Amino acid sequence: MTGEEAAGIRLRQAGYCVLCDRIVERDSSDACPAGHPAEAVTGRVPLGEGDPVPQLPRFNLAAFLIPPLWGPAHGLWAGAVFLPIWLFADSILRTAGDSVPGIIGAVVVLGVTLAMMWWFARRANGLAWRRVCDRVGVAEYVRRERVWAFASVPVAALLFGMALYFDLVVLPARGL
Ligand SMILES: [Zn+2]
Repeated sequence: MTGEEAAGIRLRQAGYCVLCDRIVERDSSDACPAGHPAEAVTGRVPLGEGDPVPQLPRFNLAAFLIPPLWGPAHGLWAGAVFLPIWLFADSILRTAGDSVPGIIGAVVVLGVTLAMMWWFARRANGLAWRRVCDRVGVAEYVRRERVWAFASVPVAALLFGMALYFDLVVLPARGL
């Protein structure tokens, strides 16, 4: 028993509240101070006296650019869903033609696809850190994601370039 426990002082702890979608300081009943139950809060980051509650970045670039790779690598298999979504969007864009309905359809599909990628990237850090919070601190997690962000840009550019090449060179050459 430490001196603080013996003195009845409760140690401050923070965890990720999935309903708030941010890291919160657990209240005296282990729950979220916004009124969410303890079950919604994951992780126990010890906080010293006067320490601010650490926060995760609000946006994950790698989750936005390459969700089919980033997601499964972080145990978030929902990211793999973007592979068929991309293929679907690609086929719509390729066959849109120059009619007004075709162009409107292509713009809508592109907008919805980008909005879903944006939403995934906004939730990504909380959901990913929640899975590893018992062994990876917030600062260490943020450091690793910075590496992912740098790596994701050339990988995304390569994937995009391959898709363009396929759509604009390979398929037309085959008369498709
Ligand atoms: Zn909450």
